[in-house]
Amino acid sequence: MLFATLCAGCNQPGASLCNRCRFSLASASSQVSETGIMAALPFEGVARQVVHGLKYRNRRLVARQLARLMVRRVRIGRVDVVTWAPTSGQRARGRGYDQAELLARAVAAELGVPCRRLLYRSHGGTAQTGHSRAERLHGPSFRARGGRSSLRVLLIDDVVTTGATLTAARDALLQAGVGSVVCLAAAATPSALQSMRPAQRRTVAMASVGSSFTSTPRIPTRSAAVTLVGTSSKKAVRPASAPSLAKAS
Ligand SMILES: [Zn+2]
Repeated sequence: MLFATLCAGCNQPGASLCNRCRFSLASASSQVSETGIMAALPFEGVARQVVHGLKYRNRRLVARQLARLMVRRVRIGRVDVVTWAPTSGQRARGRGYDQAELLARAVAAELGVPCRRLLYRSHGGTAQTGHSRAERLHGPSFRARGGRSSLRVLLIDDVVTTGATLTAARDALLQAGVGSVVCLAAAATPSALQSMRPAQRRTVAMASVGSSFTSTPRIPTRSAAVTLVGTSSKKAVRPASAPSLAKAS
């Protein structure tokens, strides 16, 4: 038992993610927020356990499985580089790794595009909370390495809670000159889901009554093991909204 691998979803010995938990993840629906932030899974049930496992219980093996889901069930479009919203330095150091970076590297490998660190936290954390006072009051802020205007960046985070982290990170990238930013998280919390596009949430119910709207997912699946369920046919990425973010901030 000492050396047994435990499933990140249910803690049973065996695979890093057992078949039952794998299918449970495959049956959850992806989400898109009004601001264009996409999430592959709702942050609840097995998905919550798996993401927590990656974040707090050193279950790094599941990064690849989460990345596969993120790539397959969300319409990402063509991107040139993958990056991540870095966890505050203090937290990542305490843990020994940054789960957002692990996910970004796994997503990049799935997509076959490079993964680069483009973002840095603007404020150092305090010993007590890992966040500076400014960060607690105004949310995280980032600075970004400059980019070409033709560069399309896929920005990764583990969980969307308010969207503040991904929005701040996206703004920093756009201000640094990159052309467009697509935001993608592994999971979104119930509170985040409330602000996410209702059509996405209705997808499951509509599918159950046989609506033609949801019966033809536009995203091709590369593996039957990760069948897309409840993927909306609505356009997920709206790069047109990106420049306005840069102007607003
Ligand atoms: Zn399991």
